[in-house]
Amino acid sequence: MPEGRRRPGRKPGTGPRHDAKDQRHRSDSAPEGRRRDDRPPVEPPPPPAARAADEPGLPTATVLVKAKRARPFFGRHPWVLDTAIDRVEGTPADGDVVDLATHEGRFIARGIWNASSRLRVRLYAFESDVPLDAPFWRSRIDAAIALRRTLGLDDRSGAARLINSEGDDLSGLIVDRYGDHLAIQVTSLAMAGRLDAICDALEAAVKPAGILLRGADRGLSKLEGLHLPDRVIRGTAPEGPVFIREGSLSWGVDLTEGQKTGFYLDQRENRRAAALLARDRRVLDLFCYSGGFAVTCAITGSARNVLAVDGSAKATTLARANADFNGAANVTVETADAFGRIDSLAAAGEKFGMVILDPPKFARSRGAIEEALRAYHRINRVAVDLLEPGGILVSCSCSGSVSRDDFLEMLSAVAQRSGRQIAMLECRGAALDHPVSASCLEGEYLKCVIARVA
Ligand code: SAH
Repeated sequence: MPEGRRRPGRKPGTGPRHDAKDQRHRSDSAPEGRRRDDRPPVEPPPPPAARAADEPGLPTATVLVKAKRARPFFGRHPWVLDTAIDRVEGTPADGDVVDLATHEGRFIARGIWNASSRLRVRLYAFESDVPLDAPFWRSRIDAAIALRRTLGLDDRSGAARLINSEGDDLSGLIVDRYGDHLAIQVTSLAMAGRLDAICDALEAAVKPAGILLRGADRGLSKLEGLHLPDRVIRGTAPEGPVFIREGSLSWGVDLTEGQKTGFYLDQRENRRAAALLARDRRVLDLFCYSGGFAVTCAITGSARNVLAVDGSAKATTLARANADFNGAANVTVETADAFGRIDSLAAAGEKFGMVILDPPKFARSRGAIEEALRAYHRINRVAVDLLEPGGILVSCSCSGSVSRDDFLEMLSAVAQRSGRQIAMLECRGAALDHPVSASCLEGEYLKCVIARVA
């Protein structure tokens, strides 16, 4: 559709850039697409076909993929890279709804355009008669929340990931619930432009005390041309930490300053699995953040004692508080560089019955995989040295670009170099409320191997 046709009917403020700016000043903004246009008409109204395209959620353009490149999208892969695109019919603005079609023009899916990103279109619907409007986002969000209810994660005193991006067919949107508060991470311009509709749906479904935007201007969001500072979008921010319950444990979560959205919910079940093997052992929790593994092993797992180490003083303050809060007197917390500290423990001949390694993402891109694997090898090699015979290694990697196979091969090399048998008991992933779409395996990132080292 020619530019001149589409623009007059397009409502100002419906583009994502406008939305993001508007929301900073308005707490009661109308749902997307319902804003008033106060400007006098400067051109005659567009013809019916063009007017239909201006209704919220309907496509303004068609993106045709190259021949032989359509298969992943028929298989519901939601990312259309610039390199897969043959041509665009129409002139979509960033944030517009577009249809994806084969190079001959056959409908494949409906998504949202962003010319600023290599990931040019994110697909959200695979039926041609579904507008991407407020009711559509609401039904997606309701379905995601219903899944958490099925998983038994709707206890208001606890925490859960309510929306896990592609795993919930909402590419670029993460929502975590901590008690009565929600923390949102947005990594797509498509979702950033629809925050009003998303928050309306979340408020209707969850009735939170507040919705906070967190970590949105870091990492991936930069690739989308997004600049969304942390802020309170709806309601109020909690005063001080939010306390959440997980089984018999309580965690203080810092929603405004903490890492990720405040807590590593993805490790919930892995912490319990590790704790099951911690009884009477001396445990080392390297990269402990707010003490998740350390305190779970000390209290739930009845470990003899735990040494928890993190390089961030903010993290160790949280870990100390969580240990004290749960009455874990046998947890020692240290602020130190993990690489230096693990070497010094090995040099001193210290031995542990369990070593937990949960380092930050070593590989931020595919190019960094080799280097990341060397870093994983190095800490795992020293961890094995620190383990007494029959000790338990809990080794994690949250680098999505390091595959499960690569990670296991790294452990294989560690076994070879150390001459110790590493018997893998479990190879785990992220917690149940972090679903991964089988159509988008890029969403799988967390590996957690639990092994006995002879
Ligand atoms: N196991 C934690 C999550 C760990 S996240 C949990 O279950 O909650 C990774 C942690 O590694 C972060 O807290 C970060 O501060 C820490 N970290 C990153 N680089 C480090 C280094 N070189 N030495 C020690 N800690 C480091």
